[in-house]
Amino acid sequence: MKLFKNPTILKILDYYKNLWSLSYVSGVTHWDLETYMPKLGAGARGEALGRLSVIRQKMFLDREFVNLIHKSESIKSLNDQERAVVRILLHDLKFYDKLPPKFLKEFEILTNTATVIWREAKKKSDFKLFQKPLVKIFEMNRQMADYLGYTNSPYDALLDLFEEGLKVSTVESFFKTIKGPLKKLLTKIVKSKKYIKVHRLEKTKYDTAKMKVLNEKVLNYFWSDMDRFRLDISSHPFTTSFGKDDTRITTWYHDTDFSRSLMATIHEFGHALYSLQSSDGLEMTPVAGGSSLVIHESQSRFWENFIGRSPEFINTFLDDFREVVNDPKLTADDIYLYFNKVSPGLLRVEADEVTYHFHIMIRYEIEKEIIEGKLKIKDIKEAWNTKMKDYLGIVPKKDSEGVLQDIHWSGGAVGYFPTYSLGTFLGAQWEDKISGELRKKNYREIKLWLEKYIHRYGSTYTMEELLQNNKMKFDPAVNLNYLKEKYIKLYQ
Ligand SMILES: [Zn+2]
Repeated sequence: MKLFKNPTILKILDYYKNLWSLSYVSGVTHWDLETYMPKLGAGARGEALGRLSVIRQKMFLDREFVNLIHKSESIKSLNDQERAVVRILLHDLKFYDKLPPKFLKEFEILTNTATVIWREAKKKSDFKLFQKPLVKIFEMNRQMADYLGYTNSPYDALLDLFEEGLKVSTVESFFKTIKGPLKKLLTKIVKSKKYIKVHRLEKTKYDTAKMKVLNEKVLNYFWSDMDRFRLDISSHPFTTSFGKDDTRITTWYHDTDFSRSLMATIHEFGHALYSLQSSDGLEMTPVAGGSSLVIHESQSRFWENFIGRSPEFINTFLDDFREVVNDPKLTADDIYLYFNKVSPGLLRVEADEVTYHFHIMIRYEIEKEIIEGKLKIKDIKEAWNTKMKDYLGIVPKKDSEGVLQDIHWSGGAVGYFPTYSLGTFLGAQWEDKISGELRKKNYREIKLWLEKYIHRYGSTYTMEELLQNNKMKFDPAVNLNYLKEKYIKLYQ
């Protein structure tokens, strides 16, 4: 079946292939920057990417192309995919139309060099090294918000870059809803007799070579077609897709705590699956892959939390876990507690299902305060530590475990973090729906379900529309209830 038929849309898509090819090239270049590029390549790479983004902008603003987009706005007979083309291109158009080319290029160059500086600063655990580029990154983000326009908070304009239409008011009320219940649950857990601060496996050294084999084996188990998919290593795990036949993920390895590597791999697989199962007909169009980060994150967190941490998964790979840490006596219960243990920690990516959201709230509050001019970068470390103490009762001793831990700011992304929490909560709703509809759950059936109801549409629907199509409404209570039930039982 042909997804696109309208002649105006077909003309748009034909021209769009030029834009797609530029995104393709800069995508591969970005992937290389994060994985294999030698450190000193950053200067030239930033220049090349900066120029590419200006070329893309110029190409996007081609008068005939823009006219076609505007013309298609008033066509009544468009199908869902065609309407999505118009919706997504109008959103992009706003971005390209309002940001001066000079600004775009400067921002690209800044973030490329900042990523390398951040890596160095994190390695040396010295915030001072990163302070200057960070000031510039937030300044430019504020400027970007001013260019793009907003009614209430400039942070609204930045949220919209990652999740169309997301507003501070929505994020605030979401965090307000979940904060109390999560704090209450955490207090209960910490008071439980079964509470442990550190599981011994967190300190146990693992064999990296064996861990690599295990990651590959797990991926192979979930997805057998490795001709369209690959795994590499980077300083922060991520997923990128150049179409459904070339989707790549990365993971990381540390000396100890193997679940960190494993959960990152499974998380990124959840993202990859979205692209791998996207409909053929959407390839090389603006609708390919997922544009809503909340939906995307709901996929990765679904796989991480509901598959990776599940007893079924643990039983399947128990022998492999034993092998990785060289402990033949390890029990499934032991691993289950290790994967699901709740305790306040310093690192977001390692955080359990309960404390995770406090890490996000801290970042959200800090970003918003800086963008609204209420907090200065030079005071950010102190603000971070105060909030950590307040939300989680602990304070980082090293910058690398505090304000420097995440890659996002160095890449210029401000307004991204809330999508993690929202996505996690949405992930629990998919789990709720899937377990209600599939009597016997196996990975094959789950994948088919996700393909049928989510993945094949790419970014045809906004989050709200997708939920509506599935007769659902975003409801934080689903995840809150799941967490309460699971962890009261585990810590009883
Ligand atoms: Zn993710």
